[in-house]
Amino acid sequence: MRPGPETPLVGGGEGLDHRTKKELLGRLEVDALRICARFRLRYRALEAERANVRRRYGVCYSDGTIRIRLRHATSGKPLKYSSLVNTLCHELAHLKHFNHSPRFQTFYAEILGWARRESIYQPRQPKASEERIAPVAIVPSQQAALAVLLSVHELSVHETADDKRRETAQSGQLELFG
Ligand SMILES: [Zn+2]
Repeated sequence: MRPGPETPLVGGGEGLDHRTKKELLGRLEVDALRICARFRLRYRALEAERANVRRRYGVCYSDGTIRIRLRHATSGKPLKYSSLVNTLCHELAHLKHFNHSPRFQTFYAEILGWARRESIYQPRQPKASEERIAPVAIVPSQQAALAVLLSVHELSVHETADDKRRETAQSGQLELFG
């Protein structure tokens, strides 16, 4: 389940040197395993998203493989660690609820809140210059169709924990597509 140190890093990450990428993934995995231990979750693999995938920040496949995009889509620089952790918490929550239902949102907020208290998730106020992707409305039929296979997330899903608590499950800030 847990990739060993020799496990090849799947996918891209071009733009990040190998060492930076390995450090980020290693740190994420330590935190992922802490979260999994606390919430009794199990993932299959934690990987860096391919470099050519720019629209989403993370993805959770139905086989338990999680991919996190490590770098900024346009600048190529590493994303803030807090953003990576937020994405990670979102994807880990999908291991229990493979959809974006209210129960998923509640569980995601629970994970994020715990991670924050444990200082795993340490968000700062977003700056205007941060990368943004325009929110799109979710289409229920799409959601139903794609919950089977995978879920894909825009940056707008990954607001701070406080923001998440204020949001409703119908806030239409994520997109699914297959
Ligand atoms: Zn999601």
